[in-house]
Amino acid sequence: MKTIIVNGIVVTMDSQGHIYDRGYVAFEDGKILETGPMEAGMITEDAHILDARGGIVMPGMVNLHSHLGMVSFRGLGDDCKDRLRVFLLPMEKKAMDAELTYLSTRYAVAEMLLGGVTTVVDMYYFEEEAARAMDEMGIRGIAGETIMEDPTCDSPDPKQALAYARTLMEHYKDHPRIRGCAAPHGTNTCSEETLKAAWTLDREFGAPFTLHTAEMDYEMTYFRDQYHMTPVQFLDSIGVLDSSTLAAHCIHMTDEDIQLFALKGAKAAHCIGANSKAAKGVSPVSAMLAKGIAVGLGTDGPASGNTLDIITQMKLCADFHKNETRDRSAFPAKSIVELATIKGAGALGMDGITGSIEAGKQADLVLLETESASMFPVYDPYSALVYSASPQNVDTVFVDGVCLVKNKKLVKADLAKLRSELAEKMNRTEFGKIKKF
Ligand SMILES: [Zn+2]
Repeated sequence: MKTIIVNGIVVTMDSQGHIYDRGYVAFEDGKILETGPMEAGMITEDAHILDARGGIVMPGMVNLHSHLGMVSFRGLGDDCKDRLRVFLLPMEKKAMDAELTYLSTRYAVAEMLLGGVTTVVDMYYFEEEAARAMDEMGIRGIAGETIMEDPTCDSPDPKQALAYARTLMEHYKDHPRIRGCAAPHGTNTCSEETLKAAWTLDREFGAPFTLHTAEMDYEMTYFRDQYHMTPVQFLDSIGVLDSSTLAAHCIHMTDEDIQLFALKGAKAAHCIGANSKAAKGVSPVSAMLAKGIAVGLGTDGPASGNTLDIITQMKLCADFHKNETRDRSAFPAKSIVELATIKGAGALGMDGITGSIEAGKQADLVLLETESASMFPVYDPYSALVYSASPQNVDTVFVDGVCLVKNKKLVKADLAKLRSELAEKMNRTEFGKIKKF
């Protein structure tokens, strides 16, 4: 049956930037049929009507970079200088397994859906389990199996990780919402041979080649000392920098790196919350956008950025870039909502199916209520979304036209049950032994 969302401020994010005050969006069988301003007498047919009550209807948001299996690490070693070596790697070794990845990913997807994220790129281990969790929860996602030179919790060497990724990609190649990819951990945590093998595998399946890039100080030093290059120049020199490349972070980009990205059509996942919390610096996103590079937003994992919604990232993006440029008019709210929606979808080559509210696209839709205290008045919906909104304003979410969040609650799952099952599993592992405050 057709569904029509009525009485909403419809922020389409189409190429003309249409916004319809008292607008509607009609969809059926997962696809958007039409959108526009409401007209008298238009709702006469047999349809399910959802009254937006003046709320903001926007395209589902895209989270371009995360590690969903890491919910159990959230808040662990947050202000510790060397958190990675002191907390993350040892705990990963001791406690991470397929079951924990599955339960964690399920919980993480719940959090994202409740915050209006409808598409996610994940990158972790046991990604068959992550893909299964994403599929069950109804989100649109890419499950990236992490490939590393060192032994990991699911693969003793990169060859086996690549074989795991191939099986995953085969399994999901015809799935309507879920795909797999081979995701090398980073520019300097994989050998040249491994990077090339992962890129070749991703090309075979038409999957994004996603990896951490130009993120760490020591990564920059390593490539300078070893090759007299930047990590981006290195990726280009071995032939794996192209329009399939989705580079996470891109903090330490030189002008030449930005030129190379523009020339090769490489994409960037901007993770401002995780980057600023870790005191790593601020990616030169304005310069990248000025060169026409596709940039979207990512949360990074819950151990890095803590929260997994994109609304929080939009606000941080505005705050940091305005402050950095000392320019109040820099990064206007509309340009940030673009990063969260249509540009994020574009960075995945998925802007033909999601990222805007247009006839023919999949019905990935979010309704934010404007009845909460901070959401009144709404002079400009872009401004309300970036500066006033929080994930708690997300009222209703559809993916492929399927209602997954209604009245701020999950429709197909119970958050308390997801949490208790994850907590019970954590208690059976090394996480259960951690002394809390
Ligand atoms: Zn990351």
